[in-house]
Amino acid sequence: MTSDTLTIPPFDGRLVLPEHADWDDARVGRVFNGRRPDRQPDAVLIAESVEDVQRGVRLAAERGWTVAVRSGGHAWAAWSVRDGGLLIDLGALRDISYDEQSEIVSAGPATKGGDELSPYLEAYGRFFNGGHCPSVGIGGFLLQGGQGWNQRGWGWAAESVVAVDVVTADGELIRADSEQNSDLFWAARGAGPTFPGIVVRFHIKTRPIFGHLAHTVHGYELEDFAEVMQWLYRVHHRVPDNVEIVAVSTPVPLEDGTERRLLLVTALAFGDDEQHARESLAEFTASPLLDRAVFVQDASPSTMAEQRVQQELQNPEHWHYITDNAWIDGENTPEGILRMVEHIRPLFTTNPTEKGFAIWMSNAPRRPLPDMAFSLQTDAYVAAYTVYEDASEYARNRAWVSEVFAHAQPVTAGQYLGDSDMTHRQLRVMAPENWVRLLEIIQARDPEGRFHRYLARDSDRLNHNHWEIDQVADVPG
Ligand SMILES: Cc1cc2nc3c(=O)[nH]c(=O)nc-3n(C[C@H](O)[C@H](O)[C@H](O)COP(=O)(O)OP(=O)(O)OC[C@H]3O[C@@H](n4cnc5c(N)ncnc54)[C@H](O)[C@@H]3O)c2cc1C
Repeated sequence: MTSDTLTIPPFDGRLVLPEHADWDDARVGRVFNGRRPDRQPDAVLIAESVEDVQRGVRLAAERGWTVAVRSGGHAWAAWSVRDGGLLIDLGALRDISYDEQSEIVSAGPATKGGDELSPYLEAYGRFFNGGHCPSVGIGGFLLQGGQGWNQRGWGWAAESVVAVDVVTADGELIRADSEQNSDLFWAARGAGPTFPGIVVRFHIKTRPIFGHLAHTVHGYELEDFAEVMQWLYRVHHRVPDNVEIVAVSTPVPLEDGTERRLLLVTALAFGDDEQHARESLAEFTASPLLDRAVFVQDASPSTMAEQRVQQELQNPEHWHYITDNAWIDGENTPEGILRMVEHIRPLFTTNPTEKGFAIWMSNAPRRPLPDMAFSLQTDAYVAAYTVYEDASEYARNRAWVSEVFAHAQPVTAGQYLGDSDMTHRQLRVMAPENWVRLLEIIQARDPEGRFHRYLARDSDRLNHNHWEIDQVADVPG
């Protein structure tokens, strides 16, 4: 299709076609992962306004195109880049407004949670637990659940969403909340990249900003992995819920000028004041393993700005990433804990890339979830990332990711959409009954399949752990 054969409606933004010089930039230039797909849409709409989004959806209907969407461009598997159809890039929809009366912030879907929304709210003394990497867009992040700062204590970021403004499959602009279009509101909190509409604005309940941030970090040699993780599994349930607990395997620059991969046990306390934050970290200060640590940082004062910089260093933009993840489940007994630790160990101790890393994140004690599409969680989450620059390393790194997650399979309950790539491994992402309800909502709201569904290896076998699939008589697809 060329511009000669396409009747282009007046857009505030621009419709970019394959013959245009900036086609590739429009197609993948805003994809965070340097490992870009070859998939080719028919056109990319660089939307400048909500009206553009509506015009784009109507143009797609006229042309028989499916529609893909990009907000922040951070989906590891570049979900926004699909073969055929129209990609609507929402990058310009980033305006923010705050209502002091209701304490609700409203923001466009491409707003960067850490770089833009957090500093904006801090000026009002408010906070929203957005994604850890500051440039993640709130669009994809909130739709898939949103594992934001201290999600363990404050809940999934999507739980703070009180309403969404949505452009529907027929181009209408509607509000969805608990009172109106509540089916879409339910789906908008967990459906992820198969939401049957385009969210053009999120309305989010904010929380008061904390008084003091304290950061504890214990660095251990990888050979101590099993012992350290067993201890962490024993204590994480009883750490106060204002503390984010993450164990990360990552290269660490040391005081003697060398750098080597260590296991860092990190605890970030969001306290009312310094004393509260310090007391919240008592379990870590009293760890019986400290004499083994390579270094100990105990309750150091920190700031969100400092934390954001750390995240940026951990996740350099436009490097090549292969990621996967798992919800880890098992008995909370010494034997059960040892089993979980042994099954996740290779993720943390054998990463083939120098900059690669792996995280274990506490989600305990597990909080009950509200009624929303997001519905699968366990007490601990793991994800591994290979990070490399040379594309020729792809096959080796892909094989490693497959291997370590296959090893973790006996203790895997499912996966989180945020770190997954279903073209390689598709697991359960929500409770079976929620999955059925989501499919019904999609069918009712988008019967013609205007919006792309999950980018998956096998669309008929979604939301099932593949090793359990033979036991499933009738797989709803
Ligand atoms: C460096 C890095 C760090 C990360 N850290 C975290 C973290 O701490 N916690 C966490 O939970 N996740 C994290 N993620 C994962 C990230 O949240 C997801 O990849 C998320 O989808 C990114 O949202 P986005 O808008 O930037 O992505 P996009 O690639 O723009 O969007 C992903 C997909 O979501 C759908 N979508 C996006 N916006 C809309 C919309 N407005 N309407 C309808 N559908 C839409 C589309 O299908 C789109 O293709 C991280 C990712 C990266 C790259």
